[in-house]
Amino acid sequence: MRRFFLGLAANYNREDRHSQLFTIGRKEDYKDLQQFLLRKYTGERALLTKNGRSALALALKAYFDKGDKILVNGFTCYAVYEAIKAAGLEPVFADITKTDLNFNANTLNDAWAGSDNSRPWAGDEAGGTPAARSEASTVGETATAGPAQSSIKGIIIQNTLGHPTNIVAIEKFATEHNLIIIEDLAHCAGVKYPDGREVGTVGAATALSFGKDKSIDTVSGGAVIFRHPYKNRIEAPFKTPKLSDHLRARFYPTFGAICRVLAHIHLGGALMRFLVRIHWVEKSADSKLDLKRKPSKFETRRALIQIKSLSKSGEKPIREFYLVKNRAEVLAKLKKSGYYFDAFWYEKPVSPVRYYKKVHFPEESCKNAVYVADHIINLPTYYKKNSLKAAREIIKEYLEEEQ
Ligand SMILES: *Cc1c(COP(=O)(O)O)cnc(C)c1O
Repeated sequence: MRRFFLGLAANYNREDRHSQLFTIGRKEDYKDLQQFLLRKYTGERALLTKNGRSALALALKAYFDKGDKILVNGFTCYAVYEAIKAAGLEPVFADITKTDLNFNANTLNDAWAGSDNSRPWAGDEAGGTPAARSEASTVGETATAGPAQSSIKGIIIQNTLGHPTNIVAIEKFATEHNLIIIEDLAHCAGVKYPDGREVGTVGAATALSFGKDKSIDTVSGGAVIFRHPYKNRIEAPFKTPKLSDHLRARFYPTFGAICRVLAHIHLGGALMRFLVRIHWVEKSADSKLDLKRKPSKFETRRALIQIKSLSKSGEKPIREFYLVKNRAEVLAKLKKSGYYFDAFWYEKPVSPVRYYKKVHFPEESCKNAVYVADHIINLPTYYKKNSLKAAREIIKEYLEEEQ
């Protein structure tokens, strides 16, 4: 239990805690951040949201209709699933590679073929791409035949843990299948694709999370930038944040630090239980989706400062990862050497584990994702770099051959 507290909110340094507590936001901060995002991501409209999943849900609602299917990385956060569902869509999970934890053209093809509408353009009023239409006619169908089927219309790019995907191949796949690209920057704000373009400048819309442990971290908050015209009406979030959410975001890094100190005299647990009980500490996966609420002003101001300094700091993965052979044994060894490694990204193909059952994840067709979830270790983000040397040595003994 005591070890648990060593990781609690420990990635915020003293300066972060201080700014989180004392930053005073102004009304103009909303506009300033929106303007900045519009310039950075060359967008037409930018909206600020309560969290990343609400931003992603707005992006999806704007471009897709209820019942549409959307390709998504088969190794992800429940927040993504929640956003897809909130927009009335169905996820189609594509398997990942063990090297960058992203889908690629091959696994996307497999997911496409395995989906029950691999002949998706037949009932589409718009007729799909000319290529898709002629394909439909070669199998004896006209573009207007049959009832309108739901079909795969889009793809969410995630760049897992900040590892950029081979964007050129994904764009080619998207063009061939007439898919709209949505970029989810929760893990990767500031990162560049192999061809030099920055993430968030490729798709029709870009969603950002400013949540705990994300590449921009103000405890909560999010934003969506619409880069291309969209068909459905989207109402801007207009409600101010709840006082409780505001206070939670204010105090979370500081309370975490206090719990860590108290843990040494065995009081951290008591305080922690109390804070959880009054909902002042909340697991980030439990953050509620809310399409109507804005982030607080002070978080908006902090997000603007962080996103402005991204080019200096944002090009590294948010979590260093290794695939190890016998994870339980490695963890036991690490523990013996005094390391506390908290939750993994991700312990299940769609995490956290307590929501996994709801997802009905296709384990047979996403074998790599299942494997990775069982074998991944993330280096915690709260140890100083050189103090992880011994941990890396331990992990090295258990690495899989191909790494
Ligand atoms: C965390 C996360 C989000 C959104 O997170 P919020 O907690 O809603 O801010 C979106 N996508 C991925 C891949 C994430 O890990």
